Amino acid sequence: MLPTGSTYEEIRRAFEWRIPERYNIGRDIADRQAPDAPALIYRTEDGTVERFTFGDIARASNRFANLLTASGLGREDRVAILLPQRPETAIAHAAIYKAGMIAIPLFTLFAEEALVYRLQNSGASAVVTDEGGLAKIRAFRDRLPELRHVFVTDMEADGDGFVALGPALERASDRFEIVDTMADDPALIIYTSGTTGPPKGALHAHRVLLGHLPGVELPNNFFPQKGDLFWTPADWAWIGGLIDVLLPSWHHGIPVLAYRARKFDPEEAFRLMQEHEVRNVFLPPTALKLMRQVEAPRERFRYQLRSLASGGETLGTELLDWGRETFGLTINEFYGQTECNLVVGNCADVMEVRPGSMGRAIPGHEVAVVDDDGNPLPDGTQGNIAVRKGDPVMFLRYWNNQEATEKKFAGDWLLTGDQGIRDVDGYFWYVGRDDDVITSAGYRIGPGEIEDCLVGHPAVAMAAVIGVPDPLRTQAVKAYIVLKDGVDGTDALATEIQEHVKSRLAAHEYPRHVAFVAELPLTTTGKIVRKDLRALHAAEAGEPE
Ligand code: ATP
Ligand code: MG
Repeated sequence: MLPTGSTYEEIRRAFEWRIPERYNIGRDIADRQAPDAPALIYRTEDGTVERFTFGDIARASNRFANLLTASGLGREDRVAILLPQRPETAIAHAAIYKAGMIAIPLFTLFAEEALVYRLQNSGASAVVTDEGGLAKIRAFRDRLPELRHVFVTDMEADGDGFVALGPALERASDRFEIVDTMADDPALIIYTSGTTGPPKGALHAHRVLLGHLPGVELPNNFFPQKGDLFWTPADWAWIGGLIDVLLPSWHHGIPVLAYRARKFDPEEAFRLMQEHEVRNVFLPPTALKLMRQVEAPRERFRYQLRSLASGGETLGTELLDWGRETFGLTINEFYGQTECNLVVGNCADVMEVRPGSMGRAIPGHEVAVVDDDGNPLPDGTQGNIAVRKGDPVMFLRYWNNQEATEKKFAGDWLLTGDQGIRDVDGYFWYVGRDDDVITSAGYRIGPGEIEDCLVGHPAVAMAAVIGVPDPLRTQAVKAYIVLKDGVDGTDALATEIQEHVKSRLAAHEYPRHVAFVAELPLTTTGKIVRKDLRALHAAEAGEPE
């Protein structure tokens, strides 16, 4: 979708949205490519590799769409997908869109309450899952009166309360009349990470995929190019795996590597990329921080990646430098959120990458810093990062949550809930989530910059920073630190780490309090849950939060 141009400004000027009135994600991703073109390389944990063409995906998704329709499901019924990265997951997505239904991607590591919450909230009529998912669902099915169908992979015959997916697909026709959806019709509900509170279901229209394209193309160095192959360890249940990688790759006819791992393993990530010579990869900062701990990565990783993008959390200059050394290219950061994704980003090919900045507005998106009433603020001022309404990538509304939807907007703008600054050249500098910004001695400090500085200390593996009550300064900076393997958390080391920050950042930013911990509270998407650390501190200090 991006026009060609040699500078960011040129591309931005020439950019035009082309969103047709009628559009269906299922047709777009499954039915537009040559039937024998490669679509999916599927690799299981035991190393077996299976290959699927676009023709395979087209036929299988037609069969699945027929099965859904024949089961009595109709337009806008919610169908949940509780599966890891595997072919059936992608096929289910295509089928649900083709049938005009609404997909609910669910993460396989969710425990009972997380699943019940999302299935109840969305009122799902059906679930597609595997044996492990079936066992979970059986334990709470009586709490889900709206759930009528459970389709299960890897089963030879139907059983108590479920349909065996494989045989049912074989019985179904591989031709299907795709529902003629409007670009604005609902297609999927993705739940937010729940970093700041209960996760909210962001309802997206079919157009959300088209809205993502410029934000995928630019930070991935003008994706697609001939020979590209995309992989991400981010699960397809999240917007980062699904709509930053899988669906846009298929829109462009580019194959995707699916790898089914129980847990992210940094050594395995290097091995996998090298073995398949993955050309394009999206690695969230948490994954990069783990990969950074692997010894001598250069020896494990010899070929040349074409693009490496990262986002979802602050990337920081430490990782940027490490990325250049390790992969020989600039990690292009991007920024967005489940409700309105990929609106800011970097692309070293056509613009200067300023370390610490998330980049500039992606062509096609109008991003500003506004006050709480939605009035744009002058460049250089800290305020709410906001996106102008009417953007094709923007969600329709929160599912079943009118109040949260109303709060999300002010004037012409969607408020991201993040604080930031735009400089005179249009670069965005992320400060922090509204709740995470620290007020100390009159300064408003974002945790990201301090965390970045902390991970630059040779003993530190991961760090999270919060503000804690302080009688003199309103709040003081406290750092929770995970040390590298084999390092002892002594008082002397704490002092050394404080000095490390003091000598690199402003004096008011150094952590007055340092706690060494074995791990940090992370969401399943790998985001630091600072509210849990604030609660931990309050409990330990016997203070109210
Ligand atoms: P919830 O809304 O339920 O609290 P969440 O905001 O973590 O959860 P997501 O939509 O997955 O759910 O995350 C989006 C948020 O991630 C953004 O609003 C922002 O705070 C953070 N984020 C995304 N990209 C970046 C980035 N490049 N730098 C810093 N933070 C980022
Ligand atoms: Mg959010």
